[in-house]
Amino acid sequence: MTVKRRTFVLGALSGASLLALTACTNGEPEPTPSPTRQNPTVPQPSAFWRSEWTSDPFSRGAFSYQRVGSTPEQRTALRQPLGDRVFFAGEHTSETFPGTVNGARASGHRAATEVIDIAEPGERIAVIGAGMAGATAARRLADAGFNVVVIEGRERSGGRIHTLEVDDESHVELGAAWVRSSSTNPLENELDDAGVTTRRFNYEWEHRTPDGAVVDTGTIGPDTIVTAIDWASEQPADVSMAAAIEGSADLDDRPNEQGISEVDLVADYVTTNLVVPTGAEPDDLSAWYAPDATLSHEDDRLVTGGLSGFVDGLLDGIDVLPSSAVASVSHDDDGVTMRLARGESLSAARVVVTVPLGVLQSGSIEFDPPLPFSHRGAISALGMGLQDKLVLQFEERFWATDATVWSVVDAETELPLWFNVEPSTGDNVLVALFGGEDAERLAELSDNDLVAAALRSLEPFVADETEEDDGS
Ligand SMILES: Cc1cc2nc3c(=O)[nH]c(=O)nc-3n(C[C@H](O)[C@H](O)[C@H](O)COP(=O)(O)OP(=O)(O)OC[C@H]3O[C@@H](n4cnc5c(N)ncnc54)[C@H](O)[C@@H]3O)c2cc1C
Repeated sequence: MTVKRRTFVLGALSGASLLALTACTNGEPEPTPSPTRQNPTVPQPSAFWRSEWTSDPFSRGAFSYQRVGSTPEQRTALRQPLGDRVFFAGEHTSETFPGTVNGARASGHRAATEVIDIAEPGERIAVIGAGMAGATAARRLADAGFNVVVIEGRERSGGRIHTLEVDDESHVELGAAWVRSSSTNPLENELDDAGVTTRRFNYEWEHRTPDGAVVDTGTIGPDTIVTAIDWASEQPADVSMAAAIEGSADLDDRPNEQGISEVDLVADYVTTNLVVPTGAEPDDLSAWYAPDATLSHEDDRLVTGGLSGFVDGLLDGIDVLPSSAVASVSHDDDGVTMRLARGESLSAARVVVTVPLGVLQSGSIEFDPPLPFSHRGAISALGMGLQDKLVLQFEERFWATDATVWSVVDAETELPLWFNVEPSTGDNVLVALFGGEDAERLAELSDNDLVAAALRSLEPFVADETEEDDGS
């Protein structure tokens, strides 16, 4: 729940607002409750799917982020090869597009180039991990004539790309689903070439109160974050986004006629534009290197043709060992030996390690000799954000809006952020994204409890039949 986020935003109360809170409330304007609609009922979904990245031992989170005190240069440190034997790739090693499939793909190309530059023709090269980074590196190395083996811990390839086929035409993406920034991103064209369809996703936001009233959020959310980042940039050391907001904002906690205050609006913006996209809580997120939450996603494409198919295509004809978790990587002048958790060992001339930052942080892979301080420093300094998804499919559309991104401006709503993909795909499918502590908490719920919480959270968006009747 976003209660905690609202609590820290309360630290940014203006003097007037504090006075109002501490003084007797007599005479203060009371919020006029929005007209409560009669028993809005969300129908049971015909199918649902949930991701479990938060507890998955092969990801241990969703994507890397800049934790307070870390620097983007630590991503560069993390990708330095060890003795021409061990190479690193993965979204966490990308300074330009960390946390994305583009970043993972670019890192796979970069690591493959590093290997190609120094390896002897025909050498055996191991790649640990069959996600986007590993598959990209493996494809490049195989095409360059190396003897490539991909060692993958899961039964499937794709890593944090995980497409479920609902039927011949419909797919559910439990991991990455959007391809970002097409103007600078060759991936969209590569998907086209591979026959993987993408659709334009028009980000049209609608914010509602728990009672279903549409909220005009104005610009206080983005303005507060921009001011906080500017304030942080003048501090002698990095501070968290929470500290930056508390240090720079002057917010009012008095509710307006909808019962919504400036504090509520900023807490909503922080949840939907910082916590969910990064998977990090504001007190962990660096303000010096905060993502640009005001960046336009106009060019984003929603992948509708199955992103896993693209990764599988890259691995076509390459030797992949599934269900083969690597437990240790030893290297010396002669080559590299990987010991699998189930006991056997494999040797290669060189290895490209693409396991996620969360796996490196967990220490489940032992390196011999141990990783240099620069690598270990980067691994512990960067953060691994948490994000999970719940995808609900309905027989019929029950919602009142054509907006594609919905939020409930309310600290108590359990799943406050929803994506409506129906305008893009024609399917009656709603996707909840939840990040940070919400992801941790919701991961503990049973399927039934999670779906029940989701249906409660969707109540503000149910079409109001009374209004429709009145209008007819
Ligand atoms: C819910 C969610 C939504 C996302 N949405 C988007 C989005 O819309 N757009 C976007 O661009 N990005 C998105 N991302 C991020 C994107 O999915 C990742 O950045 C990208 O897929 C990472 O690729 P990778 O190859 O670096 O890592 P991974 O895909 O994680 O690949 C690493 C591989 O290593 C394997 N592995 C781990 N440990 C071991 C071991 N010990 N031995 C052997 N193998 C091991 C894993 O099983 C995995 O296959 C999202 C991620 C999540 C989780």
